[in-house]
Amino acid sequence: MKHLILIPDGLADWEVEELGNKTPLDYADPENMNYLAKEGICGVAETIPDGFEPGSDIANMTILGVDPRRYYTGRGPIEAMAMGVEGRIFFRCNLVYVEKGVMVDYSGNRIGNEEARRAFEALNKACSYDFVSFHHGVSFRGILSLHSEFDEIPRTYPPHDIMGERFEKYLPANGSLAKLLNELMEWSVEVLAEIESRANMIWPWSGGKRPEFPKFAEKYGLRGAMISEVDLLRGVGKAMDMDVIEVAGATAYMDTNYRGLARATLKALKSHDVVVLHTEGIDEVGHEGEAEKKVEAILMYDEKIVGYLLDRLDLDETKIMLIPDHPTPVKLRTHVAEEVPFVIKDGKRDGVSRFTEKECRKGKLGRVDGLRLMELLMGI
Ligand SMILES: [Zn+2]
Repeated sequence: MKHLILIPDGLADWEVEELGNKTPLDYADPENMNYLAKEGICGVAETIPDGFEPGSDIANMTILGVDPRRYYTGRGPIEAMAMGVEGRIFFRCNLVYVEKGVMVDYSGNRIGNEEARRAFEALNKACSYDFVSFHHGVSFRGILSLHSEFDEIPRTYPPHDIMGERFEKYLPANGSLAKLLNELMEWSVEVLAEIESRANMIWPWSGGKRPEFPKFAEKYGLRGAMISEVDLLRGVGKAMDMDVIEVAGATAYMDTNYRGLARATLKALKSHDVVVLHTEGIDEVGHEGEAEKKVEAILMYDEKIVGYLLDRLDLDETKIMLIPDHPTPVKLRTHVAEEVPFVIKDGKRDGVSRFTEKECRKGKLGRVDGLRLMELLMGI
């Protein structure tokens, strides 16, 4: 038996007035997702443990059965995994723009990819600590890696959360690592000024130790593959030692290479027992806050991913789970830590005939702890 896990990021939503008080999913009435609901058993799942931010990393770890309370060490470490950066402690490292003690821009005054790459290069060249290294990701994003141990990881703040504020009160405090980070930030001002970069400081955040996630093959005794459009999910996959498959032309938006993603999924199912396909477009549209556009994104996903796969899979030999990681209500334009609808198609039915937030609540599986989803899918 093969297992396919479809994760449309941020699909779940709230009722929207302009859609006749329906959720975008309900309003879209997607044929193929509804088919799964009709042919499968439904429920709602809690994917964000109490006290955690509703981030995609947390939610997707939960879906894959990795308890964030035990294994999550931060976003920096997961992104470092995705980028293949070596080290013991990792921070996400933004190139930022500050003025008169105020955080003006978390994206380094809109620094471009090439200029950011040069900035990270200059930081590495100028750095006199041999246990510190900088790694460029995409545009203003990078990783600060430490190759030595520190006992205490200081609290940090995402720069996008403190825009327009004096940043001094958000600097890392207490302990030797906090001291080092402050020193590096101050020093980065000089380095970046020297190369006349439009970003004028680094901002390390969400630091933590190298993640020690359970390995997929050991945990489930099966071969797992992760196909995702974003680093965060690739990082989760790599931390679990899954095969991470990249697809050319995947834009993480509505205009993504649906065909390429779907084909890569079919191919991966030939050589793996479990394949996760995580797509980002619907979430992005949720962040834009336009209900109609989200409906459009849902219908595209339904046709070009779900429908395309249903037409080509051996449905007797493939169990399918469809689950958004978290809601991204268009009204809020950000994630919330609320339950999500899900369906497992494995030959049983429960009378639910439409895949909506409301209908799935009536499903046979009821409300489940997200950490149990893999067990439910595999019938453990
Ligand atoms: Zn997400």
